[in-house]
Amino acid sequence: MNIILFGPPGAGKGTQAEKLVAERGMVQLSTGNMLRAAIAAETPLGLEAKEIIDAGELVPDTVMIQMIDEAMDSDTVAKGVILDGFPRTLAQAEALDDMLAGRGLALDNVIEIKVDEAVLFGRIESRAEQTGGSRSDDNAEVLQQRLKVYHDNTAPLLPYYREKQILKQVDGMQQIEAVSRQINEVLDS
Ligand code: ADP
Repeated sequence: MNIILFGPPGAGKGTQAEKLVAERGMVQLSTGNMLRAAIAAETPLGLEAKEIIDAGELVPDTVMIQMIDEAMDSDTVAKGVILDGFPRTLAQAEALDDMLAGRGLALDNVIEIKVDEAVLFGRIESRAEQTGGSRSDDNAEVLQQRLKVYHDNTAPLLPYYREKQILKQVDGMQQIEAVSRQINEVLDS
């Protein structure tokens, strides 16, 4: 099974992806984590990405598409992938369709984790506290821009997937365990 966890920054995509990895043995492909690893390793890509991420903007589609294409090796796709943070634009979504089709695979579910925007600022603030500020994009100012980018570029993917009849929604305002139960219900239905 291949799924996308979809939602604005702070919706809980990473948290839920990790639970699915532990419970179902699927593989999480988090573009945010991959980019942060590239930054930490000071690769050329990391150096280029850092400024973009710190400004709350999107890394170019070609870079992101190649990153996911390379990550989807045969071992990974055999376990089923959880896409977390990708696709974020229509071009990425179309490229994903091609990548999966080229491997004889399909997208089973796109799960939108719905949350009220007002809580996102609080969540990002507490994440910044918990992680000791290790994410330089986790502050109110950059979050504002990340949300704008989400609305402008990423939210338009919702109708794209609704049309394909694979869009499902869960209530991301619940406790982590309750959200997780809802996601598992979707995956088992
Ligand atoms: P969030 O908590 O905002 O969902 P992520 O950890 O997924 O954050 O991503 C952090 C940043 O990395 C994004 O704000 C963006 O700059 C960059 N990024 C991650 N995934 C993508 C992508 N698919 N396309 C373009 N940029 C991306």
